[in-house]
Amino acid sequence: MLSKCRFCGAPLSFTFIDLASSPLSNSYINPERIGAMEPFYPLHVYVCERCFLVQLEEFESPQSIFGDYAYFSSFSTSWLDHAKRYTEKMVAELSLNTNSQVVEIASNDGYLLQYFKERNIPVLGVEPAKNVAAEAVKKGIPTETEFFGAAQAAAMCARGIAADLMTANNVLAHVPDINDFVEGFRLLLAKEGIITFEFPHLLRLIEELQFDTIYHEHFSYLSLSVVMRILQAHELRVFKVEELPTHGGSLRLYVCHRMSERLTDSSVSRVVEAEHQAKLDTLEGYMNFELAVQTLKRKILGFLIQAKDEGKAIAAYGAPAKGNTLLNYCGIRTDFIDYTVDRSPAKQDSLLPGSRIPVYAPEKIFETRPDYVVILPWNLKDEISGQMAEISRWGGKFVTFVPNVEVW
Ligand SMILES: [Zn+2]
Repeated sequence: MLSKCRFCGAPLSFTFIDLASSPLSNSYINPERIGAMEPFYPLHVYVCERCFLVQLEEFESPQSIFGDYAYFSSFSTSWLDHAKRYTEKMVAELSLNTNSQVVEIASNDGYLLQYFKERNIPVLGVEPAKNVAAEAVKKGIPTETEFFGAAQAAAMCARGIAADLMTANNVLAHVPDINDFVEGFRLLLAKEGIITFEFPHLLRLIEELQFDTIYHEHFSYLSLSVVMRILQAHELRVFKVEELPTHGGSLRLYVCHRMSERLTDSSVSRVVEAEHQAKLDTLEGYMNFELAVQTLKRKILGFLIQAKDEGKAIAAYGAPAKGNTLLNYCGIRTDFIDYTVDRSPAKQDSLLPGSRIPVYAPEKIFETRPDYVVILPWNLKDEISGQMAEISRWGGKFVTFVPNVEVW
């Protein structure tokens, strides 16, 4: 059965990459349920031949994905720093004060809004995962546990809410109905308000072989050009773009109503031109990715096979969604990697979906002293190798697999 593009409705037939099938990346397994069946879904990415939106077909309701989400943003120190710097910048640039309204969509555990709240700026979060939203409420951050879209936005408008600043970090890619979602922003945004969207940049994904950032929770893989097209369809306009190092290379878009008097900055045409140079406006830009990823898979397995032949012990650090894509696509289980560790207590003492590699607290590394520690969240490799520098005492080495096998 042919799926349709979630933005323009054209039939999808051109494969960007087929990563076979995999369980939901954030469905960590409680050891008590080790005998239970685990659902696997196709992880097949298409590019729309009409609008060039790179996307997974929808296969299951988002309610089942995000109902009991295990990702708590506040467990990443570098992500908290990122949030704090963003707050300082936006408060200064927009002169936000006690009369302003800041709304964050997918506000997680309040990792960002807490910094606005500290400055007595009114905040409101929208977060569908109930267990995560509960953590935000404990911090005193008003949070609505809803899926955001046009209906939810209209209900908020009816209660007199108009947002001077709306923000959505790493959520645009996660929404199945991208048109309904973006329409919600148009409705809730004050006349001269601004929206910032952050999302991993498709150009970086392609150039740096970040295939492991493909997982079921990520429905779309976004270029600036495609997002501009989607926003335009909803009377919104990008007026500035910043390139950020987060998540392996992200874009932060500054967006206003189409009719706003804000001038469009030259940063917009600069990024559009880079995407044009990479041929992202033709199918050619998407054709070689799958073969390049298959080559990387063989290099990863080559490293692991050689290390095991030499009798080395290998552990991993982190239990991010991207790690699960990589481990399942490459077929890596406890035959190669004994265990992984994670700072988030919600993930500790569970098993990774699919690969069933056990997750422990970070201290486990110092108890077992492995020869190699594979950092699965490679985007945080500096932070993690700094925290775990002590492994060099027993000759332990760090490894990352993307964009290439690197050992240090
Ligand atoms: Zn399309």
